[in-house]
Amino acid sequence: MSSSGDASAGPITVDPVLTEQIRLRAEAIAARVRDCTDREVRTVCVTKAHPVEVAAAALAAGFLDLGENYAQELVAKAAALGGGAAAPGGAGPPRWHFIGRLQSNKVRSLAPVVSLWHTVDRDSLATEIAHRAPGARVLVQLDLAGVAGRGGIAPTDAPALVESCRERGLIVEGLMGVGVPGPAELSRPGFRLLNSMAEDLGLRERSMGMSGDLEVAVAEGATIIRVGSALVGPR
Ligand SMILES: *Cc1c(COP(=O)(O)O)cnc(C)c1O
Repeated sequence: MSSSGDASAGPITVDPVLTEQIRLRAEAIAARVRDCTDREVRTVCVTKAHPVEVAAAALAAGFLDLGENYAQELVAKAAALGGGAAAPGGAGPPRWHFIGRLQSNKVRSLAPVVSLWHTVDRDSLATEIAHRAPGARVLVQLDLAGVAGRGGIAPTDAPALVESCRERGLIVEGLMGVGVPGPAELSRPGFRLLNSMAEDLGLRERSMGMSGDLEVAVAEGATIIRVGSALVGPR
């Protein structure tokens, strides 16, 4: 973040030009979604690696769901813009979505502000979230690419993790997945698998699809898409 993105730098100014630009891009995203489904699909605006002014503009443009990948950055933006784990939405403060790889030692600082944890992929992490944020709403992240180190649990192991999250008192809202690099079409089998697993497990939410592959994800059943560059520009 630039120094102007520092929460200690004073009141956040909302740039009307940037706000209008994001609003127009949001219309384009909504049109892309409508071309694929009549279902309601929630868009999380991913503001990672952009200064807090960009998140403020996204909020002003109507996005209440904001996504971040890095704990410190999310905590700093939440300090500046408000929002808490139980933020009601509506016209209120932002709902913060944690969508990055998560180390257990970051959970404590995130707990007061994260509304939905997208990247629960191991039992030790579920334990820590349940400890620091009892009853939190989570998604279990599936590894759709089979690439070690990129996050997510092997799909075959996901049902047990969902069960374990529930035993710890977490509310499992659904599953999350990241498509594979390359042409969007390559992500279709993984998205399809995620959708059918969510169905089998009785889970409502399917968080999948980003700027480049949202059509495929929505066609395969996404209920939440996470869109960064197509809304707020390149990082
Ligand atoms: C960065 C990121 C996004 C947004 O990606 P864009 O291609 O900029 O839309 C979505 N999900 C995750 C997990 C990300 O890391």
